[in-house]
Amino acid sequence: MRIAMIGTGYVGLVSAACFAEFGHDVHAVDVVEERILRLRRGEIPIYEPGLKGLVQEGLRHGTLTFSTDLTAAVASAEVVFLAVGTPSRRGDGHADLRYVEAAAEDVAAHLLPGTVVVMKSTVPVGTAGRIEALMRRVNPDTPFAVASNPEFLREGSALADFRHPDRVIIGVSDAETAAVLRSVYRPLSLREIPIVVTSRESAELAKYAANAFLAMKITFINEIADLCEEVDADVQDVARGLGMDRRIGATFLHPGPGYGGSCFPKDTVALMRTAQLAGVPLRLVETAVAVNDNRKSAMASRIIEACGGSVRGRTIGVLGLTFKPNTDDMRDAPSLTILPALLDAGARIQAFDPVGMPEAARLIDGMRCCNDPYDTADGADAVVVITEWNAFRGLSLPRLRAGMRGDTLVDLRNVYRPADAEAAGFTYHGIGRGSTTAAIP
Ligand code: NAD
Repeated sequence: MRIAMIGTGYVGLVSAACFAEFGHDVHAVDVVEERILRLRRGEIPIYEPGLKGLVQEGLRHGTLTFSTDLTAAVASAEVVFLAVGTPSRRGDGHADLRYVEAAAEDVAAHLLPGTVVVMKSTVPVGTAGRIEALMRRVNPDTPFAVASNPEFLREGSALADFRHPDRVIIGVSDAETAAVLRSVYRPLSLREIPIVVTSRESAELAKYAANAFLAMKITFINEIADLCEEVDADVQDVARGLGMDRRIGATFLHPGPGYGGSCFPKDTVALMRTAQLAGVPLRLVETAVAVNDNRKSAMASRIIEACGGSVRGRTIGVLGLTFKPNTDDMRDAPSLTILPALLDAGARIQAFDPVGMPEAARLIDGMRCCNDPYDTADGADAVVVITEWNAFRGLSLPRLRAGMRGDTLVDLRNVYRPADAEAAGFTYHGIGRGSTTAAIP
């Protein structure tokens, strides 16, 4: 099929490259010219494992093309995906639909009769219907359909998630549109990936419900971790025991400094606003949002406490800045709350992240950027792990400790075993590790 992908961010670019791999003809469009020029040369503006090779393959086969010319892309497409950003609106935090609306108006003016326009961006329930009405005002004469197809990929494992999703959700208002989208995803249904066909409203809400549920799961284990510290239990063991229950599942039960990233923070708040406007407040989600916000600043206090109550004049080495490993995405990363608070409290920060350094340096004033993990420990009073990159798991703890002035290790991701850290001479502070019995075989 001939597909136009509007937006070449994380979702648009991964979807475009994977649809081209499925055998479709994909024309991807962005308003940022420099991004398109780089993509045409096979350069990837984001860090996502495997994506570069896939984009280059699409370019080589001629199944994937990039331009800033939305008109040309839409005027030859059977299916147009909208994958533009839906950030938090300034003020009330609801989803800001201005990019979706602007793109939809442009698309409406140029589409072929019978085109299916698909909302891939995460948008509040009811948006597909409202966008359809907006497009019909722009172009009352050409028949077209609007569908919802929310995306569930995770940054860092986006290709695997797109190629082998748990399910594909298709929201439509008629059977012909469902058939078109089934054809788009035919390679996945051949692999027996479940395709859930439902109303546009249910599809839109399923996306927010999934993200809110996962955000609550993280928040739950974070609160259990706090309790563990007070009652001498170890959250790693509690989470293991909890996650082995198949009704619960082991994923998203890793305690840490609070969820961040490009989706959970904005999507939980947007869902909260949708529910409040509908007169059905979601109190669990509201509480998770508040608990998570507090947690990020509480982490700075925890680090200060681990340093003896003050970090004024102290040097803190930081391992990891991105909101999670395997991405360079810094959106709503806990480091953006924690590091400025430490700097304000008088600390000197020296930090390293395997791929997030350039963006982090742009966003956080006053930190020294290091070249490798050991460099962060050089002369430091304390080392803090904020993101659990695999590269940090295998570090030599004695070597890390040897370069330091102090002996404090604050492990906000429980990457290290307390006994190993203590054997290397650290005073170790993990999350939710109140128990000294963890070493019992
Ligand atoms: P992003 O900000 O990385 O990318 C959006 C892109 O759209 C940008 O490159 C921007 O220049 C482009 N754009 C904006 N207006 C345009 C227009 N009129 N024409 C062409 N291009 C335009 O966003 P993202 O992270 O890819 O997210 C996109 C949507 O997908 C959001 O709604 C998000 O919530 C959702 N989502 C994101 C993820 C994720 O992991 N990032 C996962 C699932 C769903």
